[in-house]
Amino acid sequence: MTATLDVGRIREQFPILARRVHGRPLAYLDNAATTQKPRAVIEAVRRFYEERNANVHRGAYTLSAEATDAYEGARARVARFVGAADAREIVFTRGTTEAINLVAWTLGLTRLREGDEILVTGMEHHSNIVPWQLVAARTGARLAVAPITDAGDLDREAFRKQLSSRTRIVALAHVSNALGTINPVRELAAEAHEKGALVLVDGAQAVPHLPVDVRDLGCDLYAFSGHKVYGPTGIGALWARRELLEEMPPWQGGGDMILEVRFEGSTWNEVPWKFEAGTPNVAGAVGLAAALDWVAETGLPAIAAHEADLLAYATARLGEIEGLRIVGTAPRKAAVVSFVLDEVHPHDVATFLDADGIAVRAGHHCAQPVMDRYGVPATVRASFAAYNTREEVDALVASLRKVREVFAR
Ligand code: PMP
Repeated sequence: MTATLDVGRIREQFPILARRVHGRPLAYLDNAATTQKPRAVIEAVRRFYEERNANVHRGAYTLSAEATDAYEGARARVARFVGAADAREIVFTRGTTEAINLVAWTLGLTRLREGDEILVTGMEHHSNIVPWQLVAARTGARLAVAPITDAGDLDREAFRKQLSSRTRIVALAHVSNALGTINPVRELAAEAHEKGALVLVDGAQAVPHLPVDVRDLGCDLYAFSGHKVYGPTGIGALWARRELLEEMPPWQGGGDMILEVRFEGSTWNEVPWKFEAGTPNVAGAVGLAAALDWVAETGLPAIAAHEADLLAYATARLGEIEGLRIVGTAPRKAAVVSFVLDEVHPHDVATFLDADGIAVRAGHHCAQPVMDRYGVPATVRASFAAYNTREEVDALVASLRKVREVFAR
């Protein structure tokens, strides 16, 4: 049985949740954009700067050794969290976007040839589309797209048909940020592997909500962002199988990623440091490790169960509002509800809700093809985290009813 969350106790750990906005208690429902940070993360970053700050992998002195231990310890923490075989399979990046670009400009560039295909799904975030377009233009490869159904599921039959011996890379979201759909990554990866394609998973929206085990998923590369899982901004990770990292050429050049530098030529550091040119975000990595500790202590199964309850409750309550249409109704969803309200522009809805202290996202959510698929320019999106409550959903519903009254006049 899954332990239930003591949400009151959790909320106390997030200082920002005590804020008022326009005189109202803050209801922060934009967690798919970024999550708030618990005191444990804020304190870990503060303590790092107050007690251990120095550059890493360089100094012989105590502080530098401690900072290096903290940074490499964070790498080991990330590895454990996603079930990697070895900490050296984790490359620290600025986030998901940088991780995908890293893969596109290394593996993409070396493996793709004219006529090859990169297969993405119709529900990808721009950061899992545009890097592939850039690399396709450079290599002569083609971007193929597996469509999604009216409910927001991947069309499995179409996916299978799109896969061919020309498919070199399949790049897909584990969870869609615009629709909430959870993709059956294990099955999709197995199908892609049958055709000899590599599988990159964009885990930005999955890591905060589902237990992720990269080896169990059977993918080849997995990317995620720290700031969406209660950690700091500017830090994220790419996991890849060791032999792939060995195969991948360096990306950015600079300090730390080299073994020896001569004007005649240079040699590269071992993985993963080969991909980490320049001074890394040490404090960010420390904060990310603290965030993952916080999630593990709080319990991901309990967080997932709480969010599933909020999702079901919000879906039912929003469904009672006349003229409201939920976009994305796949049977397996993470804590995201996207919707449109008849005749009211999503930006107007979000601005109205803000006056009631409710923070939701309005826009295309960096997933314009998804908006096009459902024939809307934008949606309003409420997305939940461990600290959200049914009362906040009630506040959202009450405020939306007022929006309807004001705009229906
Ligand atoms: N992929 C998905 C599914 C996302 O939701 C996001 C963030 N909105 C990203 C990628 C990009 O993440 P980041 O901005 O942290 O690099």
